[in-house]
Amino acid sequence: MKNSNYMASKKETVDLSIKENISRLLTSIPEDVKLIAVSKTRTVEEMKEAYASGLRDFGENKVQELTKKYDEFDESVRWHLIGHLQRNKVKYIVGKVSLIHSLDSARLLAEIEKQYASAGLDADVLIEINIGREENKTGILPEELEEMLIQCEKCSHVKVKGLMTVLPICGEDEQKQYFRQVRHIWDSLRERQYSNIEMKYLSMGMTGDYKTAIIEGSNMVRIGEGIFGKRNYNI
Ligand SMILES: *Cc1c(COP(=O)(O)O)cnc(C)c1O
Repeated sequence: MKNSNYMASKKETVDLSIKENISRLLTSIPEDVKLIAVSKTRTVEEMKEAYASGLRDFGENKVQELTKKYDEFDESVRWHLIGHLQRNKVKYIVGKVSLIHSLDSARLLAEIEKQYASAGLDADVLIEINIGREENKTGILPEELEEMLIQCEKCSHVKVKGLMTVLPICGEDEQKQYFRQVRHIWDSLRERQYSNIEMKYLSMGMTGDYKTAIIEGSNMVRIGEGIFGKRNYNI
């Protein structure tokens, strides 16, 4: 958006619109729902606009982009790794990330445990559920969850804080069904006692579906375009 000639010639409009988008979002999101500004592909300047509006939670899907931006902000910012995390990249985020939303395999779990143990730190993570059972998507299938929880319980540096999901592209009725399924899983786990595992966060909902997600029980929404405008991957 910022790169188009029209917007580039009207910088104030851009600045105002990030602020406006945020204040509109904040009035439409209940207070107990955490808003994460998904800042992938965005410039530090755009992110500072969001920061100036009071946002402190930023979501990135690439480790390299996150660590680069990390140095541009103070300690009050909470960084969320929301995209697939490769095992060889875990070492770069230790101590920098507030919440990893994308625990999606036992091998990744083992690597997070190892890297955080050697730093003497704990990692807060969400288990990502591939609720639409899409082959090209990351996340575990619901029937794989029990085994993952058993592995998580054996860890001493990984603390599970809830579940995350990204839906397939589908209509609103289907969205509702998918969100409801994840919510039911989250609820059923909440009633159980585990070590290292707590169902505090339910991270679901993006620009196109966050309202439905909140109705279905989400308490953490990840919003990019609804704050910063359309993404341009060719910058
Ligand atoms: C990009 C992304 C979002 C935000 O998507 P928008 O449609 O821009 O709100 C949320 N979650 C994940 C995992 C993403 O990769």
